[in-house]
Amino acid sequence: MEYIDCNTCEQYMNAFIENKLVGEMLWQFLTHVERCPDCFEELEIRYLIAEALGRLENGEAINLHRELAHKIKATKRAMYFHYFNEDILRTLEIISMVIIVYEVFGFLSDFFGIVF
Ligand SMILES: [Zn+2]
Repeated sequence: MEYIDCNTCEQYMNAFIENKLVGEMLWQFLTHVERCPDCFEELEIRYLIAEALGRLENGEAINLHRELAHKIKATKRAMYFHYFNEDILRTLEIISMVIIVYEVFGFLSDFFGIVF
């Protein structure tokens, strides 16, 4: 899998903060941010500004640093779960196909065993 560079990562930042990043792009973005301290710092600043501006009015008690870390973890966990589920479904399909084949052969041998 090819990973994005810092320039592409920066282009994705606003979309990520606005929850508009999805799929492969989101995965690549999160992976880059986790590994690249520069981009994480840049994202943190943008996130702080965006969130702080949004919350200035209602004066909520906030810990944005922790929230950003949580947002990254939660999003990635959700994606892991998504991919994990796809793997399980594929495995179940294969297992059920094996069972069907096994039962069909079992039926055929029973059937012919009775007839002949
Ligand atoms: Zn970077």
